[in-house]
Amino acid sequence: MINSVMNISNARKAFGGNEVLKDISLEVKRGEVVAIIGPSGGGKSTLLRCATLLETLDGGSLLFGDLAVATDAGSGAVYAKGDVPRQARSRFGLVFQNYNLFPHYTVMKNITDAPIRVLKRPREQAEARAHELIAQMGLVGNENKVPCELSGGQQQRVSIARALVLDPEILFFDEPTSALDPELTAEVLRVIKDLAAQNMTMVIVTHAMQFARDVADRVVFMDGGRIVEEGPAEQVIDHPREQRTREFLSRIE
Ligand code: ADP
Ligand code: MG
Repeated sequence: MINSVMNISNARKAFGGNEVLKDISLEVKRGEVVAIIGPSGGGKSTLLRCATLLETLDGGSLLFGDLAVATDAGSGAVYAKGDVPRQARSRFGLVFQNYNLFPHYTVMKNITDAPIRVLKRPREQAEARAHELIAQMGLVGNENKVPCELSGGQQQRVSIARALVLDPEILFFDEPTSALDPELTAEVLRVIKDLAAQNMTMVIVTHAMQFARDVADRVVFMDGGRIVEEGPAEQVIDHPREQRTREFLSRIE
């Protein structure tokens, strides 16, 4: 069995003349939790968007396990065609800052829509799994509510359930709590921590340093489109080696 869940190598991406990713390499192993930290504009979201096929790389390669989504042909990244993108998408889930729930769907329908409509799973099976996830996310009693009847923290937990119902091998989070106030942040971080305890493989872009220190096996500090420093959480957050990491941490804490 391949131990690497996602491997992005020598990733390059520019928007116009703006080089946003400059030779980024990141491999995530099964069961690993990686936190990506760094200043705004450093390329964190772009890295996640390239890893999740929402953007294409200009150069470099992208693999999910043994599935090659993009290979580096020297002159640039070459994307696999045919069924490969769909297969890759079935391996990861993505949770955004702003939940992106369907506003007119109930919680239950938000969670079960993709498994029923896209994966053609029987409704009873999808709903049984959704009930488990609703319980795991602390959302029992909210099945028939629509998103605007829920707090931001509850909505974010619905979006985590919606990602998990597709049984991803890896979950990507882009600042999952930055739209939430501290109390609601804590309940979302709690469920992510529980997922980590269950060995869910995750990549989490976050500004919550205490959380990153608690939950991440590895912390990656990105600035200016590069990985400036990475290592165990205690090392990067408590004893950063690079001046730029120290400056960033002193500004945010
Ligand atoms: P971060 O998530 O670390 O704040 P981003 O990846 O969002 O950083 O942005 C990195 C840089 O890329 C910024 O300069 C941003 O303006 C630019 N950028 C991101 N997405 C686009 C886009 N779709 N078109 C043009 N520029 C973009
Ligand atoms: Mg971002």
